[in-house]
Amino acid sequence: MLSHPNFMFTNYIINMKHLFIGICILCSAMFLPFNQAIYAQSNSTAADSSWKNTYRATATKINNLKHTKLVASFNYQKSQMNGEVWLTLQPHFYPTNQLVLDAKAMDIKEVALVRGNMKSVLAYRYDSLQLHINLDKTYTAKESYTVYIKYIARPNEYKGVGSEAIRDAKGMYFINPTGTDKEKPTQIWTQGETESSSVWIPTIDKTNQKTTQEFYLTVPSKYVSLSNGLLVKQTDLKNGFREDVWKMDLPHSPYLFFIGIGDYAVIKDSYKGKEISYYIERAYEKEARKIYGNTPKMIAFFESKLGVPFPWSKYAQISGRDFVSGAMENTTATLHSDAVQQDARELVDGNNWESTIAHELFHQWFGDYVTAESWSNITVNESFADYSQTLWFEHSQGKDAGAYENYTALRNYLSSPTDAEKDLVRFFYKDKEDVFDLVSYQKGGRILNMLRHFVGDEAFFAALNKYLTDNKFSNGSAIKLKLAFEAVTGKDLNWFFNQWYFSNGHPYVRIQQQYIPDQKKVLVTIQQTQTQNKVFTLPIGIDVYVEGKRNHYEVWSKNRLDSFYFPASTAPDNVNVDNDKVLLWVKDESKPIEQYAFQFKHARNFMDRFEAANEAGTYLKHPAGKAIIDAAIKDSFHVIRSIALNSYNPIAIDSFMEQIIIRLAEKDPVSSVREDAINAMSKINKKTYQAYFENWVNDASYTVAGAALSALEQLDSAKALRIAKQFSNQTLKKRLNTVVATILTKYGDQEVFDFVANNYAKLNIQSSEKFELTAPFAQLLIKTKDPLKFKKGIDLIVEFRDAIPQGYRSQTDPYFNFKIFGDILKAKKQNGETELANIVSTVLPKI
Ligand SMILES: [Zn+2]
Repeated sequence: MLSHPNFMFTNYIINMKHLFIGICILCSAMFLPFNQAIYAQSNSTAADSSWKNTYRATATKINNLKHTKLVASFNYQKSQMNGEVWLTLQPHFYPTNQLVLDAKAMDIKEVALVRGNMKSVLAYRYDSLQLHINLDKTYTAKESYTVYIKYIARPNEYKGVGSEAIRDAKGMYFINPTGTDKEKPTQIWTQGETESSSVWIPTIDKTNQKTTQEFYLTVPSKYVSLSNGLLVKQTDLKNGFREDVWKMDLPHSPYLFFIGIGDYAVIKDSYKGKEISYYIERAYEKEARKIYGNTPKMIAFFESKLGVPFPWSKYAQISGRDFVSGAMENTTATLHSDAVQQDARELVDGNNWESTIAHELFHQWFGDYVTAESWSNITVNESFADYSQTLWFEHSQGKDAGAYENYTALRNYLSSPTDAEKDLVRFFYKDKEDVFDLVSYQKGGRILNMLRHFVGDEAFFAALNKYLTDNKFSNGSAIKLKLAFEAVTGKDLNWFFNQWYFSNGHPYVRIQQQYIPDQKKVLVTIQQTQTQNKVFTLPIGIDVYVEGKRNHYEVWSKNRLDSFYFPASTAPDNVNVDNDKVLLWVKDESKPIEQYAFQFKHARNFMDRFEAANEAGTYLKHPAGKAIIDAAIKDSFHVIRSIALNSYNPIAIDSFMEQIIIRLAEKDPVSSVREDAINAMSKINKKTYQAYFENWVNDASYTVAGAALSALEQLDSAKALRIAKQFSNQTLKKRLNTVVATILTKYGDQEVFDFVANNYAKLNIQSSEKFELTAPFAQLLIKTKDPLKFKKGIDLIVEFRDAIPQGYRSQTDPYFNFKIFGDILKAKKQNGETELANIVSTVLPKI
């Protein structure tokens, strides 16, 4: 599963932390009660820590699923599914006369044993979560049996809780089922992970179960259906309905079951004779190949790396409206959030869903073919899927893009200090949903990157091949991963796995160097400064450059303080610790800017340049710092060019640099660089730029057009308002959307309310635009006097506040309650608009 929280919500949090610096200073007596309420809340959460002593065991296998046959039809009026299921099972080892199935919030009509054509009723007890069935006799591990259950699945009756990764746990979702919302298509989709398939199909809803399946689905003829495996038969039922039969001949876990039904165009590709298909809403049909078209290439690449052919009979991708997560790797049928659907103008900036497509595809091996044996071990699914993003970018866009993807994920993990307290393999957790976090994904992915570097590329992929082959159609765990790596490399890897998989945290290091001329040596000290009561074992590569020549050394840091002496006939040009930039640590390194300039010039990887360019930003007056930035602006990788553009001091810019910046704004192949160049021009703020900005507001890229309109606003706000009003009739996305809305709310009158409110309502809660638009929208509400409009606006913000996943609410709620609603409340009170102030008060938390 790819939960948006792992990238987009993290960005919200980073943004909000930034905003909070401002808010805390402003905290006045008026906010005090809310603060107390929040502290009280966090204290009560802290008090409930019984889970810390509850070991989460892998599910005991009493009966094993073998085959699942489902016959289902859908009641759109009631958002229910009428189901009949035939489950074939077998005792795992010990004989048993009992079968316990997960079946949540169902209306159970009949439970029977099936033998040939005969059905005999079985006694059962149902507690709304599990079905306890008394079998007709005691079965041994050599005997299989089939039970039949007739039931109605009622997903809206199930009150499970979601998590940071998934917002809900209903299992099956009816979107706009009766067609009352004219803006939204009618769809059905399912989300099984973690244990929600059992809301719509009785099963043993555990990852260590595997079953083949056949689904007979009666669907409206006007829609298409998608499920796991192959579509083997379609029968027109002549009554406006059709029966679609989907068959999976290879076993997989119940949480990977999938059903999707709706009006989609189906675009077909193929790979080695297998069907690769893209289910897309018709409005985006023309863009399908631009969005999903790299899928066959990705399969070829992953196959070649893993030495394991794509295991399944086909691969389809579909999107679902109001999806509760980012994307989900159902076997052969990945479900994406509808944010995957980008229009032609959005795609001018590149496909922002490419990494997610790679992530879900890699799960078809790591997750679906070999499945984590328990939620405690989820990292053997998620760290691999996460790391596949790095692998794919490295392959498809070059080493710099791979390294940048790797760095971004590391930064996301480090941005959340509380995550440093969690073990990667976690046998103690409050809720199984909690393991879907920056540790299991991003930290786990970076640990794999270290492991790859430590054992070498060939051994790394050989070990992955062994892990997959040894555990295929079965389960994996961190222990099994360790055994595969040890078998391939012949090395004892306990130290690595104990430190990184079965423990928590990461090292903080202080790196210092000193040249000793008498001894012709350079001393490098590495001090581990983490407050955590443990010292990490770290293999470290160090490059020492003397008189232009690179000397490479391999050392180990195993103590709080380690000192290393390296020969150096003169003071070194650069000492590059962790020269391949693979270690998962936070470093505090002191070395002169001249060494960074040397490092930039002789860089062997992206991070060498990235670190040097960032360091240079604070040394712009120093010739070495300026030299780095002047070189960085011409770098082959867009991130480095952007750092340079964001570093320049607009006052000190010379005309030569100015020309380079204008050229980048005009022609850079990467939209984000053009955006940064326009921002840089905007800071210089010359009246002569106006013609450029007016031209670029019509650029095909929403990002470039938005930056240009924002820059134009600085020079000529009346003109910017006129353009924003013209644009407000068009479809707008990304930065152009937020800039237009911001300008309209800032300078426009109340007539712009409908545009801004509708726009805000339409934005996906997973988009960062919605977050960015919240503050300008609040400013508009301060100006709004019409109570109906005002109430509508407040409701829209409340809806957004409350849709953010629970795990983030403790951080996001204060932003909405103190800053957004706090500002509106204060303004309305000051203006004496008591009625409107009261509307705000009702949405604030009760004390
Ligand atoms: Zn995933």
